[in-house]
Amino acid sequence: MSVLWTVKVVGLGAAALTLSLELLGRLFGRLKQRRTLNEVLFFPSDMACVEHIFTPTTTHSCFCPLPHGVETSFSRLLRHILSASSSLDLCIFSFSNMDLCRAVLLLHSKGVTVRVVSDKNYSAITGSQIGVLRKAGICVRCDVVSVCMHHKFAVVDSRLLITGSLNWTLTAVQSNAENVLLTEEPDLVQPFIKEFHRLWVLNDPTQYYQNQ
Ligand SMILES: [Zn+2]
Repeated sequence: MSVLWTVKVVGLGAAALTLSLELLGRLFGRLKQRRTLNEVLFFPSDMACVEHIFTPTTTHSCFCPLPHGVETSFSRLLRHILSASSSLDLCIFSFSNMDLCRAVLLLHSKGVTVRVVSDKNYSAITGSQIGVLRKAGICVRCDVVSVCMHHKFAVVDSRLLITGSLNWTLTAVQSNAENVLLTEEPDLVQPFIKEFHRLWVLNDPTQYYQNQ
């Protein structure tokens, strides 16, 4: 009788252990899926102060007239860009937004490798921040091959793709109907890394001038 009882207890214990392991496996599987970021942002963005995103450790309150402590499409975009810890590859048609320029300069000052490919005509227009980036020592290459370098994408740490219709301008952020897709799906991120590399090499000024 006692032997039968022991067998039953051991059997029940084994069944419970199997079930627990299966449940744990499913839980970890779900957690793993959740770690892959996928997010969509729409613009125009509500207006709100983003000072705390640039200086999160500051103890001073900001006294600007904009709403504070409000999460917007633009603040989400800024946070994702500033999440870069090793590299930011940016391929952008028009870049005149001062906050986005500040974000890129901040990353550069922290030692993040920033590379920018931009349009040759739009990089020269009034208000373009491309010159500011160059002056700060950031490597910028203007596309001299395409008629129009119309891409608007960034790759953060070779991990996160930010792409969509949004030019990095104040008008696009505050006034236009625009979309931005953020994803860590490798099948989507990898082709953009490849495309960035292709444009980067294609527009290497040393190669370009040698071929003239
Ligand atoms: Zn403020």
